[in-house]
Amino acid sequence: MRPDARWAFARYRAIAHRLPQPARPWPKHSYRILDLDYVLKRYDGFILDAFGVLNIGEGVLEQALKRVATMRALGKKVMVLTNGASAPRAEALAKYRGWGFDFADTEVIASRDLAAAALAGRGGLWAGIAPEGAGFADLPGDVRALDNDLLGRADGFLFLGSQDWTDAKQAALVAALKARPRPVICANPDIVAPREDGFTWEPGHWAHQLPVPVEYHGKPFAGAFDAALAAMGLPPEQVAMVGDTLHTDILGGHAAGCATVLITGHGFFKGVDPDSFIEATGIVPTFIADET
Ligand SMILES: [Mg+2]
Repeated sequence: MRPDARWAFARYRAIAHRLPQPARPWPKHSYRILDLDYVLKRYDGFILDAFGVLNIGEGVLEQALKRVATMRALGKKVMVLTNGASAPRAEALAKYRGWGFDFADTEVIASRDLAAAALAGRGGLWAGIAPEGAGFADLPGDVRALDNDLLGRADGFLFLGSQDWTDAKQAALVAALKARPRPVICANPDIVAPREDGFTWEPGHWAHQLPVPVEYHGKPFAGAFDAALAAMGLPPEQVAMVGDTLHTDILGGHAAGCATVLITGHGFFKGVDPDSFIEATGIVPTFIADET
């Protein structure tokens, strides 16, 4: 069954204990703004989520193009921090440029890159879980597409994308890991992603149900934000994290010490009032914006 915001939210709440627990206090309330124009002058840098902020599925959001252009004009630092791990970064970058963004190579951090760095030097044969036909040449070590043979033989599993993943494949992986536990790296901790016609389940949804501990790379985990802030060369208090999901963008951004902007008009909260979700989780954004 295809998830909706409520389903996805229930899943995030069920795994909340595995996510970062910020030491700093949350804002008492959020300021409402129409779009990012209202906060551009307050911060020196912006970390932008991709799905739900720059694009919905394969369609670019026109206002995101405008907003990034304004950030450039004001001399702001910009960083895309995405949990999209299905495609190598060169492909992701080409997609952004095809949509009209001018991001430099150093302005995009994909969780795939973070997982690749973690994989380097580990050795062994890794079974990659990715959309059919996807390549692994950009990853270090011996990574091959998961098949029946590798279920038993692989030394570890690398979850990159779940477009072609099914309940049957998940059951086979669960059985293989029960028979012989092995490390699992999940390069996309997202539970769902907003597409043009609703949500899809993402690797985090499946990985959290495996019978072994899973190593996660990407938002909301600290490594992703450490990498983004280091690349920007800014202290966290001068940076705002912009995203459409409470449990990844806002939780992770706040834990990293950044201000946060939750976008509600498109992405995760499209057509859903975020207030009850914010109240239920205590994950309170600094700002709530209608759109990017
Ligand atoms: Mg998003």
